[in-house]
Amino acid sequence: MILTRAQDIPEAARQADVLVIGAGAVGIPLAVTLARRGLRVTLLEGGPAEPPTGHEAANAGPSTGRAYDGLVSGRMKALGGTTRLWGGQLVPFSVSDIEQAAFPGQPHWPFTHADYLGHVGQVYDLLGIPQDARDPRAVWSRMSGAEAAFGPSLEVGMNLWLPQPDFARLFAAELSAAEGPMVITEAEVERLEFGHPGRLDAVHTSRGSFRADRVVLACGTIEIARLLLRAAACEPACGFAGNEHLGKWFMDHLHGFMGELHGADPEAIGNLFDYVHHRGLRFGVKLRLSDDARAEQGLCNGVVTLNPRMGLKQGATELLALLTRLFSGRGSPAATLRHGLAMVRITLPLAWRYLVRRRSSLLFSSGVAIGVEFEQLPSPQSYIFLDPAEPPATAKAGICWNPGGEEMRTVQALAQMLSAELTARGLGEVRIDPRALAGDPAFLDACHDAYHQMGGARLAASASEGVVDHDLRVFGTDNLFVAGAAVFPSGSFANPTLTALALTLRLADHLSGAGAAR
Ligand SMILES: Cc1cc2nc3c(=O)[nH]c(=O)nc-3n(C[C@H](O)[C@H](O)[C@H](O)COP(=O)(O)OP(=O)(O)OC[C@H]3O[C@@H](n4cnc5c(N)ncnc54)[C@H](O)[C@@H]3O)c2cc1C
Repeated sequence: MILTRAQDIPEAARQADVLVIGAGAVGIPLAVTLARRGLRVTLLEGGPAEPPTGHEAANAGPSTGRAYDGLVSGRMKALGGTTRLWGGQLVPFSVSDIEQAAFPGQPHWPFTHADYLGHVGQVYDLLGIPQDARDPRAVWSRMSGAEAAFGPSLEVGMNLWLPQPDFARLFAAELSAAEGPMVITEAEVERLEFGHPGRLDAVHTSRGSFRADRVVLACGTIEIARLLLRAAACEPACGFAGNEHLGKWFMDHLHGFMGELHGADPEAIGNLFDYVHHRGLRFGVKLRLSDDARAEQGLCNGVVTLNPRMGLKQGATELLALLTRLFSGRGSPAATLRHGLAMVRITLPLAWRYLVRRRSSLLFSSGVAIGVEFEQLPSPQSYIFLDPAEPPATAKAGICWNPGGEEMRTVQALAQMLSAELTARGLGEVRIDPRALAGDPAFLDACHDAYHQMGGARLAASASEGVVDHDLRVFGTDNLFVAGAAVFPSGSFANPTLTALALTLRLADHLSGAGAAR
């Protein structure tokens, strides 16, 4: 049931088994799953039921280190959270992401890759992804008739795009149902009150106070760190005031363009990189580092994309000329026929390609840009902080984003591997940015963040290494948990939400006692 500001909050909603703070990509699935299992769940959402205009202003805060766009533009405060903005691409972490430390001293993930895939399967069940669409490499091989390996060090990887990415809509029926979680909108959490050492007694919001046996922070990486840092500064009994990892090890993915492909055969490139359509789902194609190459060369993870540059202006001009002739009755029948045939020549192969081969490409391609997306190595120099210009109780969050430069070995390796493979296959002439080819950290100036905020409350075996334990409980507390990419000890290159959801459903098992039975 959704209770907006116009509706009174029943007393029963103020005392729950589990209080989930934040109704976004992970908060909604967590609340829905726990309610299905019979727990009394209250879901507190700081924003309104529909996205407000000018939402970015509320996200503003200080930014030091590299320019970090995601602080302001990469978050939405409304029911559905950032799924109101996101693309909905689901990408699993690879074996090396989960089982191989990205840098010496990095805390381990709390499961093997096989166990992780079990939780990913739970996510796919929840989101209604059909069984035979769950292994992108198998889909790729089936659709293209080719091996997923692309030379010794690269392999084809695919992103699955959710057909309905907005979780406020995807879960609308369950959120509105009487037996679903109690969803309270415009209930901005302002204070976590710890009456007894390590015990969260009450959550104070702009719509009054709430209590629960267990409380889960699911309000996005930056806000999770803000609320924890705030409690550490203002609540002497919180149990984690001295944790030196709070807010630290903040990560995002780095995106940039590292070169161009010239003289490429569009048909051959299209066969490799055009979108794949299968069972009503769309998959984007990328080339990723193989696990073996990462292990041999000690690289962080990364992926390259080939992006057709669109001559949209040229295509739009053709289309406009045709439509004008058709609908205005102007121009000779011969000219209209000529334009009509030109459009048929463009659209017929595209229609055939989509209907028969289940592939689709960007229209009017006039060149190929080579994109690179890569992992940021975790570093304590990259962190979330409370704005020192304000009192801690009300301070906004700020970001110091500091990729160290060590990541450039991965960019350099990807550039060399891609050049070698495309040249060997006669797919065109590769021209790489000299900074990328040399592994020069100056290339980072041409990169930007990806709105994939991770870390700040990383998981670890002990409080001397991280903020939450392997059950995602905040060290030093009895009943406070964290859900989301905030707990990641490393970031891969893969869009983070599928993995955040896998950890969240694992947490749901723990909170509902289903884990032992599984
Ligand atoms: C343009 C864009 C494209 C993206 N594309 C992808 C993609 O394709 N694939 C992918 O994996 N990721 C993508 N992401 C990232 C993805 O959106 C986030 O990783 C994901 O939404 C994080 O989920 P979350 O539940 O932790 O946070 P959110 O989805 O941000 O939800 C947090 C919720 O908490 C609420 N909240 C915040 N503060 C409070 C408070 N004090 N009290 C109560 N409630 C509060 C917010 O209003 C919000 O509803 C994209 C992001 C952007 C911006």
